[in-house]
Amino acid sequence: MSIAANLQLIHQRIDAACRRAGRDPKSVRLLAVSKTKPAAMIEEAARAGQFLFGENYVQEFCAKAEVVQAPVEWHFIGALQSNKVKYLRGKVALIHSVDRLSLAQEISRQWQRLEKPANILLEVNLGAEASKAGSDAAGLAELAGQVSLLPGVRVRGLMAIPPWEADPEQVRPYFRRLRQLAAELAGQGLPNLEMAELSMGMSHDFEVAIEEGATLVRVGTAIFGERQR
Ligand SMILES: *Cc1c(COP(=O)(O)O)cnc(C)c1O
Repeated sequence: MSIAANLQLIHQRIDAACRRAGRDPKSVRLLAVSKTKPAAMIEEAARAGQFLFGENYVQEFCAKAEVVQAPVEWHFIGALQSNKVKYLRGKVALIHSVDRLSLAQEISRQWQRLEKPANILLEVNLGAEASKAGSDAAGLAELAGQVSLLPGVRVRGLMAIPPWEADPEQVRPYFRRLRQLAAELAGQGLPNLEMAELSMGMSHDFEVAIEEGATLVRVGTAIFGERQR
């Protein structure tokens, strides 16, 4: 199937999940995850109306952002080393993968050279998986408190990559937990912090994520096909 047809199908599935959950479809935004895929595929998706694109690797992002001509909005969703933050400065609308204070500090430092603070999400490691990035749920409040004091960042919500389960229903409790954590944080009245965004759900579980409150679903394979690496 073409990228345009895939996108159309995904939007139908997003709309159906919103109907089931009694949500406005406009409250869910589709982030097309284009890692490892060529700029031409991004252009093709953009021609089909896709606006938000997520990338995982700084070097790959920079190379593609230079050549993509379509007016798109870039998000960064991958593991991020502090020494590479400077290459993202001013180029990405949202960084989903902020998992530690030192990274937030560097983002703040870089974005203070610009007029507006960086929009970031705090990444939570819900399954306490050693192989995955993210603050554990217990450390989240402390991280949020520290990050909220930084002048160059604005916390817009939370992001999670829950453990993979063959049956997406098994992931539902993790999505629900992320929403609960966001509600708890929102109640603390921290400065520069709002819980407007929940970035959760990927190709095989985004409908469950939407039913549990996702505002940004990160979908790669279902749009662009399988990745080679
Ligand atoms: C690759 C990736 C996705 C997309 O995964 P698919 O299963 O291809 O939809 C979403 N989020 C993150 C953080 C990723 O690295």
